[in-house]
Amino acid sequence: MTILEDALNKNITDDFRQLAKDEKVGINTIFKTVSKGRAVIVNRINTKPLGIGFPFRTKINVNIGTSASLANVDTELKKIKIAEKFGADTISDLSMGGNIDLIRKKILDISTVPITTVPIYQTLIEAKTIEDITDELIFNIIEKHLKDGISSLVIHSGFTLEDLKSMKGKRMMGMVSKGGSYTAAYMVNKGVENPFLKNFDYLLDMFNNYDAVLNLGNAMRSGCIHDKVDKFQLSEIKFNSRLAKRANKKGVQVIIESLGGHVLAKDLIKYLKLCKKISNNRPLFVSGPIPTDFAPGYDHIAAAIGAAFASGFGADYLCAITPAEHLCLPSIDDVKKGLIACRIAAHVGDSFKFGLNYLFNDDYHLSNYRFKKNWQKQFECSIDPTEPQKKHPISEDVCSMCGKYCALSISQKLFNNKPSTKF
Ligand code: SF4
Repeated sequence: MTILEDALNKNITDDFRQLAKDEKVGINTIFKTVSKGRAVIVNRINTKPLGIGFPFRTKINVNIGTSASLANVDTELKKIKIAEKFGADTISDLSMGGNIDLIRKKILDISTVPITTVPIYQTLIEAKTIEDITDELIFNIIEKHLKDGISSLVIHSGFTLEDLKSMKGKRMMGMVSKGGSYTAAYMVNKGVENPFLKNFDYLLDMFNNYDAVLNLGNAMRSGCIHDKVDKFQLSEIKFNSRLAKRANKKGVQVIIESLGGHVLAKDLIKYLKLCKKISNNRPLFVSGPIPTDFAPGYDHIAAAIGAAFASGFGADYLCAITPAEHLCLPSIDDVKKGLIACRIAAHVGDSFKFGLNYLFNDDYHLSNYRFKKNWQKQFECSIDPTEPQKKHPISEDVCSMCGKYCALSISQKLFNNKPSTKF
């Protein structure tokens, strides 16, 4: 039985028990939300199950992987370690350079969180040219990833050949999803229908067999805020929502990816709500969204602003954006910066979703220690304990910002009924 079938049949497995404990949610609530497709449980052998969707906290994915022009496997493996250390919930291996099969196996060996892949990337590398891609090659690679133990695979199935023909000349940035553009180029080049759509039942049988999560990709996301949320994006989420129903009927869990890329801030909340409604509240994965285009080098900050509102108003799963976005393959430090920015965004988003009490353990304790000027405890509670120590060594009691005129010190005296004007 798949996890979805277990939820439908109310079979209490170790995964459900563990998730209920980790997320402090009742097992019956988990059965209900998973069986309705509103949440998924991402599984991987010998790791903890991961809940994505309502009512779980917002989860974060970190992208790593070699590129066609930079294929240093050791660097990519170090990125995994730093991502796991700073709280990534999942890792996506987007490798397109070097021995991709071997890299994937090394990633599976070294990592402890669920791994996602986008099999059309490796398909293009193996085919070498778009012209040489075949349906058979696409599905062989999907099967290979599933066999290796990949937990979730991204498939760009939400558009047709007709959509691509009518899209011509309608957008400034065209199609910025890599997987979407490879799939689209294959379709247009050969004049064939979307390969995932054509073979969707076969695809579902494969996913069911390995109990992997189907991630319906966001091929139609916009690449700049002037390419507004358009009929192609809305058509994709409607299309993917119908496919998700078919998948659930075959026991396959689904995450829907939408509204990623660049989205004008004033449109964000409206369309997030619409996406959740159209998809019947399925788990929503959002890459970014970046609400302004003018911050290259700082896109992790721009994306975190978008992601805070995205997770607050519907997104369940965020993809961290690094400062290298649009510029180059991220360094290890870029991955860390992107992840920390995204974790702050998810934390703020969860305060919209769950309120102040949810943040009690983190924010309350930190503020308490901050007021007492207990630097060590304050840093231990923070998102990255190493960073604040670069500014304020724990051994130093006085903070150089206000020195002896510290407002917190004065407040402690004032509100401990010991008013004093002596410094
Ligand atoms: S010195 Fe100023 S900035 Fe530093 S802890 Fe006190 S009030 Fe805050």
